[in-house]
Amino acid sequence: MYDPGWTRLGERFHAEFGAPRGLSLQACHIGTDATVEMARFLRSQSVSRCLLVTDDNCYRAGGGDVTRALSAAGVKVSEHRFGAEAFDACERLVDEVACAGTEMDALVAVGAGTICDLAKAAGDELKRPVVLYPTAASMNGYTSSITALKVRGLKRTLPCTPATGIFANPEHVATAPQRMTAAGVADFLSKCSSSTDWRASNLLLDVPFDPRSREFFAGIQEKLIADAPRIGRGEPEAIAVVLEALLLSGFSMVIAGSSAPASGGEHLISHYLDMKSALYDMPHDLHGAQVGVATVYCLNLWERILALQPEEIDVDDLLAMQPPDTQVRAWIREDWGAEVGAEVLRQWEAKKMDAATLRRFLERVRARLEQMRQELPQDMLPATLVAEVISECGGPVEPEKLDAPIAEYRNALSRARYIRDRFTVLDLAEDLALK
Ligand SMILES: [Zn+2]
Repeated sequence: MYDPGWTRLGERFHAEFGAPRGLSLQACHIGTDATVEMARFLRSQSVSRCLLVTDDNCYRAGGGDVTRALSAAGVKVSEHRFGAEAFDACERLVDEVACAGTEMDALVAVGAGTICDLAKAAGDELKRPVVLYPTAASMNGYTSSITALKVRGLKRTLPCTPATGIFANPEHVATAPQRMTAAGVADFLSKCSSSTDWRASNLLLDVPFDPRSREFFAGIQEKLIADAPRIGRGEPEAIAVVLEALLLSGFSMVIAGSSAPASGGEHLISHYLDMKSALYDMPHDLHGAQVGVATVYCLNLWERILALQPEEIDVDDLLAMQPPDTQVRAWIREDWGAEVGAEVLRQWEAKKMDAATLRRFLERVRARLEQMRQELPQDMLPATLVAEVISECGGPVEPEKLDAPIAEYRNALSRARYIRDRFTVLDLAEDLALK
């Protein structure tokens, strides 16, 4: 049996945080009775007809049970099922799903990231509620108010209304490939580096920071680490812990009103690989797999930064070592070409510092090293521990093991900082000339 103390996540969330901006989630339930709970929820929302969005693999992992439970509760189910081949969510498929859902009261997605993104985007277009039935604990986007879609060949995150209900049966989720679960573990643990980036940007650049998002994780990280061997063996009760951790990680972004608590330098490295893949048709790996490898790298950077002594930060030397503007522009153009490069340049220019500002910033870094040493480890885990946990769960921790070009991964370490205006450890490492 699953501990009822944490299965009704939605109720706990509302009790602690009320209804923060952007949260339309009304029910969130993890348990072997998930399909029954979902049927009861849909009836309570006066849903009598729904469109089930799924693909062949995900249907096998729970679609049949969902259909049976909904039919038994008197909800008429129509199906929009994709094939078994992997595909990306794109505008054309959103329209296809929206077209199939025109006459429906709600959309029910049975699947992982791509299927849920398609249903969320189509639900948004139709102004219909969307309910998710995750079939993999592979990433933390189930609760989010964005969808990742390929638009004109490029992966873009677009705002959308979040799901109104999320129901998951760990026994179904445990049938997903182990590599997907490991990707979810890595996506969750990435908050050790992303939250550190966020807290540091507050200390060094006065970016607003909300400590409540951290409080919500209390206990789950320890539980996930302790359960790593069982997660690696695919035991449903341990998979339920991964699911809970991922949903909480998604909630943390809702509380913060931004992805900052769960998306720092490690995510920029992964986005860089995804953008290269979309633009130049290169292979890319699962989001969480890429993020996990990059998290180990970013935590290593933080460990090196926190080990610095003030006398090692020579501001004049560091200023002289910064690449000239013309060089950065050439890199951006080389990476992204004219059209996408113009957008990347806009992102970079929003956070780029002129020489005088960079001098003041580096002086502040030097002056606040001790404070950083005191405060930043609150969110951090040792890079070696994170690598061990991801490996134990069956995921990659070395860039060579990713299904993405190693040369692009290496480029990303110094150039991913340009693709987004958010300050991360990748900026700080370059400013401090850490190689
Ligand atoms: Zn992520």
